[in-house]
Amino acid sequence: MRGTCSLHPVAAGDVGWNPIGLRNKRAAVLNRPRAMADPGTPPAPIAPGDGSGGGSREPPDPMPRAKQLPELIRRKRDGGRLSEEEIWGFVRAVVEGSAQGAQIGAMLMAIRLQGMDLEETSALTLALARSGQQLEWPEAWHQQLVDKHSTGGVGDKVSLILAPALAACGCKVPMISGRGLGHTGGTLDKLESIPGFNVIQSPQQMQVLLEQVGCCIVGQSKELVPADGILYAARDVTATVDSLPLITASILSKKAVEGLSALVIDVKFGGAAVFPDQEQARELARALVNVGAGLGLRVAAALTAMDNPLGRNVGHTLEVEEALLCLDGTGPPDLRDLVTRLGGVLLWLSGHVGNQAQGTARVAAALDDGSARRRFEQMLVAQGVDSNLARSLCFGTPAQRRQLLPHAREQEELLAPAAGTVERVQALPLALVLHELGAGRSRTGEPIRLGVGAELLVHVGQSLSRGTPWLRVHLDGPALTDSQRRALQGALVLSDRAPFPTPSPFAELVLPPTAAQP
Ligand code: URA
Repeated sequence: MRGTCSLHPVAAGDVGWNPIGLRNKRAAVLNRPRAMADPGTPPAPIAPGDGSGGGSREPPDPMPRAKQLPELIRRKRDGGRLSEEEIWGFVRAVVEGSAQGAQIGAMLMAIRLQGMDLEETSALTLALARSGQQLEWPEAWHQQLVDKHSTGGVGDKVSLILAPALAACGCKVPMISGRGLGHTGGTLDKLESIPGFNVIQSPQQMQVLLEQVGCCIVGQSKELVPADGILYAARDVTATVDSLPLITASILSKKAVEGLSALVIDVKFGGAAVFPDQEQARELARALVNVGAGLGLRVAAALTAMDNPLGRNVGHTLEVEEALLCLDGTGPPDLRDLVTRLGGVLLWLSGHVGNQAQGTARVAAALDDGSARRRFEQMLVAQGVDSNLARSLCFGTPAQRRQLLPHAREQEELLAPAAGTVERVQALPLALVLHELGAGRSRTGEPIRLGVGAELLVHVGQSLSRGTPWLRVHLDGPALTDSQRRALQGALVLSDRAPFPTPSPFAELVLPPTAAQP
């Protein structure tokens, strides 16, 4: 199989795909926006996701050993391209431990600075996916298997709500999630703030969870995409998070092993997104959809705004509390809107409903009738949480819930410095201060303070008077410093506009080539 390719081909013209065998024709370089092909070119049809997970492509045989890593790093550093075998060799060295930490960091930085073309990105995705086990499910589940992933936001607790809501709608959701990356929070860290929750589950345990509950949320492990686990942690501490090919390979490798029928990826843009610029985020969305298509995955990407935090709570336990509110059928409208719309896309793409609006309504009904919350309770218990704790968390009052989760020792409220309408609450400075207070990591594996976070006491579009408390910060250590307080106060952007409804973060949808716009 060496050197051959049985990827479902995406037409060469559509996003600069460079089919193997045409290597002299330079493919579009991810990370260099202007090199992308004409977005107006209609994409070629792809085979729909067949549940086989990650296409039929085989690893090179025999698995290559990394050549001289310094030579590969030098080539990428100088803007050259890596062959499929070299990429597989690098990934193998990462997993086997023969690549030193410094070499991994240097290669990540070279990729971050020079980009990768779609062929290299696809090879990296597949090599990461095949670094562990491929998940296999009963034939009868194939049309039911769906998942959602996000490129990372502030206050983004959508996965905690959407996985059980989709299970309540009849789907199977084998979600492999990540930890915090840069200033953005991670689903696994949030779930681990619930005492007893175990994100490490074997493929066999995942199958039982899907049979019994319909969903699970797990981390990569020695068995599941181990190479992504290593590179993901290294990116977090080497300033290499914001790389289009690395994000694409990281996300799709985890999803390629899941054997999905449909996947929706929430691609954030705006001040607190990894790619603030909407055009760059659109480019990432297209890369995800097209590399996914090349792997036989039916992927849609939603572009959603990430200027304000999503919902009102930021920080691990505070976000679990807010996810529970949404599962009660209440909670902030922007959060509910995103959960129901992303779920609607998935129910439509996987053929559960005839159009997106029906899917959105179906997910909303699962939130309102309590069926999503019951699945969440079942998932907690099945993943290690004591059943009494799970019950009290799911069915207690907000005050009772707060007593059950780890919380920070102190709270400090900030007051609005002037009257006005809340135009924006800038999520990035907020996230950076919380990171400093211990909510994020600066070194791989560092423990995080799960109770540290912030509650927005106002919402975008609301008018407020001077002196109104607008932010409650939860912190463990000494009081906020003057510079932290200044940074936070600077996050509140007021205008003299009339009050307005909180806008939906949902901006546009990039669909896979075969899906007609409903
Ligand atoms: N989620 C991932 O799994 N990887 C990334 O690089 C970003 C978000």
